[in-house]
Amino acid sequence: MKLQQFNENCYAFTGAVNIGYCQKEGKGLLIDTGLDESAIKKILKMVKQQELPLDYCIITHAHADHFGGAAYLKKVTGIPLYCPPMESAIIENPLLEPIYLFNGANPIKELRNKFLEGPSVKVDFHIESGENRIGPFMFQALNLPGHSYAQAGLLIEDILYASDSYFGTESLEKHVIPFIIDADQTLATLEKLLHIKCKGAIPGHGPYEENFSDTVRMNQRVHEERIHTLYQLIESKGEGETLESLTTQFLALHKLDVKNMGQWLLFRTSVTAYLTSLERQGRIRFYVKDNEPRVAIA
Ligand SMILES: [Zn+2]
Repeated sequence: MKLQQFNENCYAFTGAVNIGYCQKEGKGLLIDTGLDESAIKKILKMVKQQELPLDYCIITHAHADHFGGAAYLKKVTGIPLYCPPMESAIIENPLLEPIYLFNGANPIKELRNKFLEGPSVKVDFHIESGENRIGPFMFQALNLPGHSYAQAGLLIEDILYASDSYFGTESLEKHVIPFIIDADQTLATLEKLLHIKCKGAIPGHGPYEENFSDTVRMNQRVHEERIHTLYQLIESKGEGETLESLTTQFLALHKLDVKNMGQWLLFRTSVTAYLTSLERQGRIRFYVKDNEPRVAIA
């Protein structure tokens, strides 16, 4: 993890998960906390070594790799946490993620791991989309849903902290089917990013780029391709297909070899989000036959 500077006030601790940092008038603002205690400890150590201020923390969305270090951060520093309202509901009740992945039932033990369930922490203030001010920091909070329910991007001092609204090309290739909860929102968010005027952007996973529109377009293409491929797969089944079998075949088409329940359920959520988009367009229909939930061409 290293500290990269973008302009006079804006930086990020870059690594597998990027953590934004801004300083101004002797105050410091952290954007996300990393996965766990060990990740945030590294940040705190660097902050201390370089004598950087740390006064506030914004959490962009309720995925454990972004908020897992927040409980420790708050315990050690006592600084206030800020987050969009719906995301804070999950951060304060992190069991909700394994619950929603597990069809709303109390989840099996395997899903209760640090990647799917960060430690619970109280959020002090909500941030709403639009102009915000925290101490000396004036910024715009952008509503960027699709990857999560109410993810916020932050436009501060001409730098866009985009969180997981798009992925760097390497991460995009690694994920194959990126995690989304709504395909239409994901695409609308990506389109919105293309119209943001700023000096440069850094995603949650991937490098800072001054010209990030090609990377955003690549994200758009991936989702559009996935939806298209899924539709073709359904089209090839005259009688329709069960949701589970369709998911399995879709993963096989993309040469994925899923090793655990958590990963399978994350993929299932993305596939469901693509299917929902096709249903909204009136191109497929959901129905139950022989006690199995199925989809077919409308
Ligand atoms: Zn995320």
